[in-house]
Amino acid sequence: MTGDWAGDYRILHEADLRDYLAGVSELKALLGDEPSSWEITEVGDGNLNLVFIVKGARGGIAVKQALPYVRLVGESWPLPLSRAHYEYLALSRQAELAPGLVPALLHHNEALALTVMELLEPHIIMRKGLVAATRYPRFVDDITTFMAQTLFFTSDLALSAAEKKQGIAAFAGNHALCKITEDLIFTDPYRIAEQNRWTSPYLDGLAAELREDMDLHIAISRLKLKFMASPEALLHGDLHTGSIMVTENETRVIDPEFAFYGPMGFDVGAVLANLLMAYFASSGHERAPGDRRAFETWLLETVEQVWNEFARKFLDLWRAGAEGDGYPVSLFAGEKGAARLEAERQAYMRRLFADTVGFAAAKIIRRIFGLAHNIDFELIEDPQARATCEARAVRLARAMMVETAAFPTIADVTGAARKLRDWMPELSG
Ligand code: ADP
Ligand code: MG
Repeated sequence: MTGDWAGDYRILHEADLRDYLAGVSELKALLGDEPSSWEITEVGDGNLNLVFIVKGARGGIAVKQALPYVRLVGESWPLPLSRAHYEYLALSRQAELAPGLVPALLHHNEALALTVMELLEPHIIMRKGLVAATRYPRFVDDITTFMAQTLFFTSDLALSAAEKKQGIAAFAGNHALCKITEDLIFTDPYRIAEQNRWTSPYLDGLAAELREDMDLHIAISRLKLKFMASPEALLHGDLHTGSIMVTENETRVIDPEFAFYGPMGFDVGAVLANLLMAYFASSGHERAPGDRRAFETWLLETVEQVWNEFARKFLDLWRAGAEGDGYPVSLFAGEKGAARLEAERQAYMRRLFADTVGFAAAKIIRRIFGLAHNIDFELIEDPQARATCEARAVRLARAMMVETAAFPTIADVTGAARKLRDWMPELSG
């Protein structure tokens, strides 16, 4: 899709937004009749866009508008408005495939790069809940349904070759957002880059080691190539715990502006990486040690269940009569064919797990040495304590990325994480 978004685009500040929303009858009806009484608050805590919460007498909505640049950095870093188009397209597709697990879409204006959606309330960003050691009993079931449904049904296992290629084409223009990932996740943390930062001076030595570690450079480059050259399925593209809003009973995935057709392990790995970072950060946060231990046990169980449940649901969808062009049913007739296909499904999942382990590692390293950090670690005030937690996570991540074959099952990952929980790294400074 092309088009001149700049044409009618303007940034909607509070007063313009009120007028705009008052002019859309469905939204006006939803909020209640007195536009002047609507309460409008900008809440965007993300890195890229404006997000407003609007509340009227009758109800509330969330309004997201893309800016022509990266919000975190400013006008010096332009970024196409078309990302709002891809986010809307991805949300629409995810709503069909995983109903109830994304916010309902209420309105979209392509020229304004603006989307109005259901107000998620009292949901909070999951990452904030995890920092406070809150457990989410619905999370495993919901996130694994989301991933299995969205990844399976946009893959060659479920689609005809023509449908699949139309899907790839529909998202191919989102390359500026992919490039951010290619640079910030797969390249910059491993070289000198202006935007890198880490807990200095404690991690200076480790940062230098990463820049010299050619085994690691090969491993991250293989992952980068896989990210660029494997359009397996429609990815969310940024599926970290800051893109998930939760209550104890509900899970909603937000913010798919990085969506494109890529390798499935990138989404699954993002979820696991963020749970593992919450695990390593936990011991750095103050709270009764007993509570923390129980929470950490829950986190590692969750890591295991996320993979196991995802794999089970994905395989169930595949076994339930996949009609995609990937493995033609006619080639696997009879008992012998069925047995070979089942063995192949298991091999496929082993390969997907290896990808997941590698991508999870990449997501951990970027949060510790790259541009965008996360509050799991950042809210640990004592920098030495923070660096200790971060170094443990990095040690696991390096092993996962370079010695991926040493982690054939998810229990190997959680086992290694558990062993590193009290490991004391040698810090610089
Ligand atoms: P960005 O793309 O800039 O990262 P996000 O989509 O992550 O923006 O949204 C930024 C913040 O706005 C979220 O962290 C969340 O607090 C809030 N938010 C976004 N969508 C909603 C929604 N539908 N309901 C309530 N709050 C929301
Ligand atoms: Mg975001």
